[in-house]
Amino acid sequence: MGLPNIIAIDGPAASGKSTLGLLLAKELGYLFFDTGIMYRALTLAALQRELNIEDEAAIGTLAETVHIDIETPSIDDGRDCDVLLDGQDVTWAIRSDEVNAYVSDVSVYAAVRKAMTDQQRRVASGNKVVVVGRDIGTVVIPNADLKIYLDASVEVRAQRRYREMINRGEEADFDEVLRSLTNRDRIDSTREIAPLKVAEDAVVINSDDLSIEEVLAKAKELVYHV
Ligand code: C5P
Repeated sequence: MGLPNIIAIDGPAASGKSTLGLLLAKELGYLFFDTGIMYRALTLAALQRELNIEDEAAIGTLAETVHIDIETPSIDDGRDCDVLLDGQDVTWAIRSDEVNAYVSDVSVYAAVRKAMTDQQRRVASGNKVVVVGRDIGTVVIPNADLKIYLDASVEVRAQRRYREMINRGEEADFDEVLRSLTNRDRIDSTREIAPLKVAEDAVVINSDDLSIEEVLAKAKELVYHV
């Protein structure tokens, strides 16, 4: 019995998946792969080209042609990685309110899901990797060695996201953050293809009353006892 080579972490927006995934990947010396970045970069590409977000065919074509690279950080400004969209540094731009507002709509389309899923499988295959997203344990890598579903109530998630924004010196309105997360949850969990749901063999961790250190401790218990 060795360590799990592929660890899938799924869960709703702002549940702490990326924080947990990054810490676990560092602990194990694994590659960290946050798949939400790809959907965000694609959404930004669509907005930059002023495509109509309802134009499924145009967005599908874009998903097949756009070039998204995730690389080690080139600047020490709090980033975990560089995100390059056709060579352009969009690391912070993909976190904008506008991208937040449209990313779930873009992520519904069949051609988008196929293009992104194919790329994600390619990155993960043969690697020791922690992959974070919505459909990793259910669709992208159903044979992952360990599946964690990280959950938290929408109020707690909104509170955490709101504090993060304030700490970064950004303007933030709690009700707006709550509304935006609720909307994204609804679209992500009700879409027809690869909706957000708990995989049958996933271990659910609810972080409502847990600190990040406590969540990490629970995850490590799972990793070392698979
Ligand atoms: O995880 P993050 O909040 O960055 O993801 C942004 C959006 O990308 C999600 O709300 C969801 O619509 C989409 N997504 C997805 N499948 C994934 C990862 C993200 O549909 N595996």
